Amino acid sequence: MNTMLAARLVKPGDPLVICDVDIPEPAFGEVLVQVEACGLCGTDIHLAIDGDLPVERTPITLGHEVAGVVVQIGTGVTDFKKNDRVAMFPSAVCGRCRFCRVGRESLCENSKVYGMSRDGGLAQYVAAPANSLFHLPDEIPFDIGSIVTDGVSTPFHALRSRAKLRAGETVAVVGCGGLGTHAIMLARLMGAGLVVAIDVQAEALERAAALGADLTINPAEQDPSKAIREHTGLPGVDVALEFVGGNETVKTALRVLDKTGRAVLVGVGMDRPSLPPLAVFVGREQSVLGSFGMNRSDIEDLYALIAAGRLDLTKSVSARYPLRSVNEALQQLASKDTGVVRLVVAPQENKGEV
Ligand SMILES: [Zn+2]
Ligand SMILES: [Zn+2]
Repeated sequence: MNTMLAARLVKPGDPLVICDVDIPEPAFGEVLVQVEACGLCGTDIHLAIDGDLPVERTPITLGHEVAGVVVQIGTGVTDFKKNDRVAMFPSAVCGRCRFCRVGRESLCENSKVYGMSRDGGLAQYVAAPANSLFHLPDEIPFDIGSIVTDGVSTPFHALRSRAKLRAGETVAVVGCGGLGTHAIMLARLMGAGLVVAIDVQAEALERAAALGADLTINPAEQDPSKAIREHTGLPGVDVALEFVGGNETVKTALRVLDKTGRAVLVGVGMDRPSLPPLAVFVGREQSVLGSFGMNRSDIEDLYALIAAGRLDLTKSVSARYPLRSVNEALQQLASKDTGVVRLVVAPQENKGEV
């Protein structure tokens, strides 16, 4: 009765171990969340398969895109009660450091990311500090609520807080997987005057066009900056978002920029891209900006947009998996199956199984 199923990282490269562990006890200021949906993302591939991102300890339960129901309240919690529908910020943040105090929680100096520093939501239950939770509006299903916490809020943060996109500006999205797909939808919603999708996969470009990209470019077939000039008559775009994290894709993002253009880099990795010749980069007054994760306000504002019917994410969850099939889901995500926007694991679907 006091145990639950959890998908745990023991050794990167090996399948996650699905086993019984103790149900965590919420500490002071924490609640226990019964997980209804946990989204998977590229970070999980880095952690579970590639092993090129650090974890604080093993075994550790992965999963940082979580939505569920509060089933137990620790002492000192006042803002949440039993049976509240909630979603979790992808890391437990301190709420006190210089970045938390100004609402830039992704830069929290004491951040504990679920699945990297503390047990995450690929389990039937997860303990979480109440200050890292959101009330999930009744209109929003758990699976959509979960992917918003990272898969949708990350491109929203890049567009709104880092690129500071203004209505009428032109946007290029380099890499149209889960994050890029949402970037296209959000750029449209935010009033972009033109949205260009750039990806090497034909299927990803088709999806981008269906979601409102005005122009799709496969850089394996045509030069992106030339194609933008030819098809739009514009010298380049105002904002280019990069979601891949590679030298070539960063180069593409920089090359498609107009004068005063901003390249916002979201993809991470160990590549070391270089700037264009300074005569070009300086002479055009361009900028390169990093964008890491999201702030609480990004997630809260997205929930308000979805609840108000402004943002439709019903096509964003490509498939749901029970917890026991999590390794299969990770393999599907890692295979870069371009039909996939986001995959969600539903741990309660294991209930009653032995
Ligand atoms: Zn993530
Ligand atoms: Zn902090």
